[in-house]
Amino acid sequence: MPLLMIPGPVEISPRVLEACSGAPSSHLAPDIIEAFGASLGLMRKAWLASDSAQPFVLPGSGTTAMEMAATNLLDPGDEAVVVWTGYFSDRMAEMLRRRGVKVTVVEAEPGDVPSLDAVGAALGSGSPRALFATHVDTSTGVRVDARALARLAADRGALSIFDGVCATGAERFEMQAWGADVYLTASQKAVGLPAGLGLLVVGERALEARKRLRVAPPLSLDFDSWIPIMRAYEERRPSYFATPPTTLLRGLRVALEEMLDGGMEARFAEHERAARRMRAAWAALGLSLLPKREEITANTLSALYLPEGVGPELAAEIGKRGVVVAGGLLPALRTRYFRVGHMGAVLKRPEALRATVGAVGEALGALGHRVDVAAALSAFET
Ligand SMILES: *Cc1c(COP(=O)(O)O)cnc(C)c1O
Repeated sequence: MPLLMIPGPVEISPRVLEACSGAPSSHLAPDIIEAFGASLGLMRKAWLASDSAQPFVLPGSGTTAMEMAATNLLDPGDEAVVVWTGYFSDRMAEMLRRRGVKVTVVEAEPGDVPSLDAVGAALGSGSPRALFATHVDTSTGVRVDARALARLAADRGALSIFDGVCATGAERFEMQAWGADVYLTASQKAVGLPAGLGLLVVGERALEARKRLRVAPPLSLDFDSWIPIMRAYEERRPSYFATPPTTLLRGLRVALEEMLDGGMEARFAEHERAARRMRAAWAALGLSLLPKREEITANTLSALYLPEGVGPELAAEIGKRGVVVAGGLLPALRTRYFRVGHMGAVLKRPEALRATVGAVGEALGALGHRVDVAAALSAFET
């Protein structure tokens, strides 16, 4: 099997794989009730959320979770601000427009984030009711300052919603302490499961916003459809609204337990350290990052410019060496960069990270770019 080093789906741990691979159970079976119920409580811990926050586990993906956030908080005609950092900001803005929300997008150069002043100006003195931001934008490798954005939104009386699909469980996020209202992700990114679940934790202010809506959200995405289900499972009672992927629920509990095993501090530090080592190796290979500054560079992936004279065929060349990486995603730069994921269970296998550095270095060499692979591998060790 090739090594899966894209920004999701990612390599998963042997225990999670085993938990997901049994015969499917009924959604009403005792083992599923237990896995589902336990996972909801574990999500609050992993998200560093308050006891009153409501976790949701949905059949679907990150996009499903985004659409739940886009449709449960604002009515048609309401205003919202979207902090633009790349491809997934555009998706969020489009979902909000389809809900009839008036969207102000605060722009930035690709590889940069809008300034807090610009975001503050867009929020004005409080007519936008919500601020949406992508914690780590998978298309650019840029990370926003979620703490500062959450505080800014709260100061202006707006909700703050963070798409954590490429960040949750890897990048520091303190939902309660920072006063963030919604933090969402998908199962196949840093959480470390196969694709198939959208995962959200929703705070009290956001739950209140749903109660005040005039126009109901789509039934299958409505907080109100799912809250009774989540409450029932958390109390270890079976319940039904729409069938969840039961095999993934078994894996979810194991993945969250593994994530919480050494505490979230250790988990954040592990990702920071791995990212630092990967960046040292990229620098030794002469590669430069798309994010413009260290403090806005994500720890979950590297978005790297293709060097002079090397084209997008690099990804296939790396693939020949047993490592799967991703091409560019942002339309304006798509053919000028590539992306390498480094999040989740694979960080427990430094040999896999080393193999990735080696494969990238050798592929560059094969395409005529002069590199010192040994120097990159030794930079990785420091
Ligand atoms: C992957 C990703 C999504 C979309 O998730 P899907 O599971 O593919 O629907 C949304 N936002 C970000 C930041 C992502 O990385």
